[in-house]
Amino acid sequence: MAKTLGTLRHYIDGGWVPSRSEEVRPVYDPGSGEVMAVVPFATREETDAAVEAASRTFDRWSRLPITERVRYLFRMKEALERHFEELATINTLNHGKTLEESRGDLKRAIENVDAAIAAAYALSKGEALQEISPGIDEYSYREPLGVFAVITPFNFPIMIPFWFIPYAVVLGNTVVLKPSEITPAPMNRVMEIFHEEVRLPQGVVNLVHGGREVAEELVRHRETAGVAFVGSTNAAKNIYRLAGEHGKRCIAQGGAKNFIVVMPDADQKVAVPASIGSFFGNCGQRCLAGSNLVVVESDQGREFVRSFVRAASSLRIGHGLSPSTEMGPMVTEAARQRVRSYVEKGIDEGARLVLDGREISVEEFPNGFYFGPTVFVDVSPEMTIAKEEIFGPVASVISASNLDEAIEMINSKTNYGNMACIFTQSGRHAREFARRVNVGNVGINIGVAAPAAYFPFAGRRESFFGVLHGQIDSVDFFTDKKVVISRW
Ligand code: NAD
Repeated sequence: MAKTLGTLRHYIDGGWVPSRSEEVRPVYDPGSGEVMAVVPFATREETDAAVEAASRTFDRWSRLPITERVRYLFRMKEALERHFEELATINTLNHGKTLEESRGDLKRAIENVDAAIAAAYALSKGEALQEISPGIDEYSYREPLGVFAVITPFNFPIMIPFWFIPYAVVLGNTVVLKPSEITPAPMNRVMEIFHEEVRLPQGVVNLVHGGREVAEELVRHRETAGVAFVGSTNAAKNIYRLAGEHGKRCIAQGGAKNFIVVMPDADQKVAVPASIGSFFGNCGQRCLAGSNLVVVESDQGREFVRSFVRAASSLRIGHGLSPSTEMGPMVTEAARQRVRSYVEKGIDEGARLVLDGREISVEEFPNGFYFGPTVFVDVSPEMTIAKEEIFGPVASVISASNLDEAIEMINSKTNYGNMACIFTQSGRHAREFARRVNVGNVGINIGVAAPAAYFPFAGRRESFFGVLHGQIDSVDFFTDKKVVISRW
């Protein structure tokens, strides 16, 4: 189904550079299982060249008046809007998610450009105070810091780079992006479009391909000021440690294990479709995907589980580009096998499998990496499937006797703290839940509590390492305060 893009190139210092690397990997269209491109893993010299280009351009770029830098962001926004359908299509081809899901990713990317434009004027100013002593005034500036590495995961190939790049750039920094080696094609295309239509000064945004080694090299490089990272918890910990060792600023957003709590008074017309979207949207490959479905014991709870399983079993699985598809494939064969091994573990540990997605196939695409919606019931919070991130379309239904027990599970049974949601019609229960759960993003009658661009993308415990978060919070991350005390 996918047209092959050949071997991808790096984008360094305003030009496309073929890699000399001997290490290359195939990039798949997971819906068909066909290779759609080849990604090179940058050599040390190529990574250096990207950082050095960004570093050389920093002084000039940061001196440009903010009104001028903002104009480039307007052009970015226009270019993303002009190529909206084309970018949604390549996002779907490389990741597998439905076109509608890709459109959602792009809308959030564009929203981040909007928020960065607003932030550039409203949030980038300093403060001033007259006469802190007789004849002495004190004021502060927010200054950009230099070159930032942006290292991103496979599951939102365009949106996540845009949690950082527009803010970094509009505030006067320069960037080296290293997208996921699994889904590098969408950002590659974005940079081609920006090269033609945004025409940023050369070196302001660079892109190098690769994996862990390139990521580590970017953090260690003496010319980088910091790193904004999103990925699994192990990788986030590695980046955070390395950034600390090398004295770099760091945002490191990690993995997740999210709980959805359904109270007996939940409005099932809202709770069932929202939960289906949460567990099976993006084929469960979201850091905000539901994973543990905690149902507070009641007749209504049992009815909810029946409706949930019924709705899950009727989801239409297929290629993300087919208009009728409601759930696309897993991103790679390896990801599919990992989910399969978790399902086997769940069975071994005694959970009851009531919907089994292991043998699903899509007639038209026999080589696609499909895995159907899967539901376990009678799951105990001690089981592996309830504790570890599965990152696939698997729901584990756990019973709780009341809200306190559900909150206790969320706060103590996993190490993650990305998101928790509750479905209820009780304002008191909703408030209690939001106040007591130890997670960054909370949903009340919402299945995927994804903060809008003008809020921070929060996260706690092993889902996040650092102080400042992605999206609007990164204004503080990408600037430093300089204080001037003056007497004339
Ligand atoms: P991943 O950790 O395998 O890769 C993420 C990025 O880090 C890639 O660019 C990769 O090349 C690089 N990388 C891989 N291993 C590394 C290592 N040991 N050290 C340094 N860099 C490394 O993650 P993925 O499989 O691409 O993405 C899925 C994961 O990302 C899930 O755990 C998901 O929960 C998480 N995620 C988190 C958020 C969030 O906001 N918290 C958002 C999206 C995804």
